[in-house]
Amino acid sequence: MSNRKNPTRGTASESRFSVMEFMAEFPDDDACLAHLWRTRYSPDGEHALCPKCGVERSFHKYSNGDGRQSWTCTHCGRHVHPTAGTIFHKSSTSLHLWYYALFLITSTRCGISAKQLERELGVTYKTAWRMFNVIRNSLMAEPEIAPLEGKVEADETYFNRSNRLSNKTGKPGRSPGARTVFGMVERQGRVVVRHVPDATADVLSREIDLHVLPASMVFTDMHPSYQRTGWHYDHYRINHSAGVYVDGDVHTQTIEGFWSTVKGGIRGVYHSVSAKWLQSYLDEYAWRYNHREFTPRIRGVRRVPVGEAKFRLLLALAARPVR
Ligand SMILES: [Zn+2]
Repeated sequence: MSNRKNPTRGTASESRFSVMEFMAEFPDDDACLAHLWRTRYSPDGEHALCPKCGVERSFHKYSNGDGRQSWTCTHCGRHVHPTAGTIFHKSSTSLHLWYYALFLITSTRCGISAKQLERELGVTYKTAWRMFNVIRNSLMAEPEIAPLEGKVEADETYFNRSNRLSNKTGKPGRSPGARTVFGMVERQGRVVVRHVPDATADVLSREIDLHVLPASMVFTDMHPSYQRTGWHYDHYRINHSAGVYVDGDVHTQTIEGFWSTVKGGIRGVYHSVSAKWLQSYLDEYAWRYNHREFTPRIRGVRRVPVGEAKFRLLLALAARPVR
């Protein structure tokens, strides 16, 4: 018998962290600030290492005249501001709205647009757009991802002038002004996706060398730019133009699947993507893909739903000083 005072998650919402759950945990600015204080400085909410005393002291919450809140060392009076150095620092947007934005971004499969964020948060489009960019560029970009290894599929694709990915991957310069995107993905693993100047052998070889460990197996199509891939890798090619898509282990279905997610998302969520911001959109999709199932099933331990796990990961990243 279900109890509506104590709702349980239905199976359909297993991957969701509901807005009710979010609001119960983070009802207002104070709750978010306290969360940041505990995450960054004080696991018990009361004791922290005082930067001035150099030892652990007890702190109490302090509110100054302009409403800016901090925690104060009871021994020396030093103030510690939980938002200092983070993406929230000196933002005119409330901490609660920032947290809600992080929740919204991780609670959908395909992402949301700045326009939706504007409506949901009740802020101006400009503010929503800025928040989005900060979240993507400071939290979701993963420049230091470890090199891919094992079985890796590589493929190039194009954004044409109408800002949509073309239906087919293929020859460079397919449409004038097309933007070239190159992706590499481990089977059952991580993806790296780059907006590149073109699909020449120089550019694609350099990307593979940068992101894939030597001696890995690399699967591509017959595109001539992959002719050098065999120099440093165990290279296998699938002849799409001959109508062959899978030949045993030789295929590029994983990267094609990733492209279709990006295509679907771009079409459904972002109506246009300028070249300037293309990489940051790609980073967001790569981040989602790379964190799609990072909560293993452990017997006897509640499995954190994927959406909630992503949300908590973003919160942890947001609690660190900006690079
Ligand atoms: Zn102190």
